[in-house]
Amino acid sequence: MIEMNDVWKTYKNGIKAINGIDVKINKGEFVYIVGPSGAGKSTFMRMMYREEKPTSGKIIINGKDVGKMKNKNVPKLRRDIGVVFQDFKLLPKLTVYENVAFALEVIEENKTVIRKRVMDVLSLVNLKNKARFLPDELSGGEQQRVSIARAIVNNPVILLTDEPTGNLDPDTAWEIMNLLDEINNRGTTVLMATHNKDIVNSFRKRVIAIEDGLISRDEARGEYGYED
Ligand code: ADP
Repeated sequence: MIEMNDVWKTYKNGIKAINGIDVKINKGEFVYIVGPSGAGKSTFMRMMYREEKPTSGKIIINGKDVGKMKNKNVPKLRRDIGVVFQDFKLLPKLTVYENVAFALEVIEENKTVIRKRVMDVLSLVNLKNKARFLPDELSGGEQQRVSIARAIVNNPVILLTDEPTGNLDPDTAWEIMNLLDEINNRGTTVLMATHNKDIVNSFRKRVIAIEDGLISRDEARGEYGYED
């Protein structure tokens, strides 16, 4: 599903963000990515959906070499990968429904198909009754649920989440974690970069720690392992 072989990334400003990573993540896994700020977690994930290209090494996602992929094939890759950010990144002038439908409209699905898929996914995240609301009429947790709905509406095989609970209070963070767990149980491979020690230590899953652009720890049912 996800394979990296000797991957390095140096940004144009000379910062060496990833310094020789080898990793394999199988279909259906749930993996926490932990490590100090600036360690390379976001870069590690951004390379998977070709937001960044590796400087060297090979990244295979779903059988395809994403480093070498032509630009015209990147939209197809991004339909296989859903992405969720700490700050939700919803379009403020679109309703909940429109934010989620947007990804499907871009690929020109017909209106009936779009309606069914959007309502199914809003039902999964428990927001069917707020389909007509605007993002700023929702709580932080609800906004994050919309962004998760938007990320999974195309049925991606991989869901990448970068600090998805970072802006949320502890109860809401747990709610989001339960939702990600359910999405994983339905078969989607989920990666979650996080600083949420309580969640990592309670919902035990595979833990990959990144420090100075290298994998310093990779445990099947790991712990958070830092004090912050
Ligand atoms: P983390 O997600 O663990 O906080 P990042 O992957 O965001 O780490 O950052 C790793 C290193 O790369 C940091 O030193 C950061 O400043 C640098 N970096 C991240 N993004 C860029 C960029 N777009 N251009 C230049 N340097 C970057």
